[in-house]
Amino acid sequence: MTTCTALRISEVQIACPGDCCEAFHIGGKTAAEVLEQLASPKMIDGPYILQMLIPLSAPDEPNTFGCAYWDPVTRLCGSYETRPKMCRDHPYGMVCNYGCGVKAGCP
Ligand code: SF4
Ligand code: SF4
Repeated sequence: MTTCTALRISEVQIACPGDCCEAFHIGGKTAAEVLEQLASPKMIDGPYILQMLIPLSAPDEPNTFGCAYWDPVTRLCGSYETRPKMCRDHPYGMVCNYGCGVKAGCP
């Protein structure tokens, strides 16, 4: 496990606008469906993700979530070292579709 140094935070702020943490979608399901799916014991990091999600959409609408660990002032993750796999893997080898345009080299 790495240590989050001041230098690292500075580098992250320059490289990453944090767009994909501010408000994001998980699959194409409704918010209620996502929450139900995450409650399944088969889901990787399910309990961790459930406690961090902040629903920004109605339960029966296509999901949009915020995150309890997201700091809108610093635009940094407050759980960087223990963030779930879905956050570590994003944008899954594709170009991020939340606005930053990064394909590889996410912090
Ligand atoms: S895709 Fe990567 S670089 Fe872009 S906002 Fe998300 S974490 Fe930052
Ligand atoms: S845990 Fe961190 S990386 Fe994942 S959505 Fe929340 S703020 Fe972003």
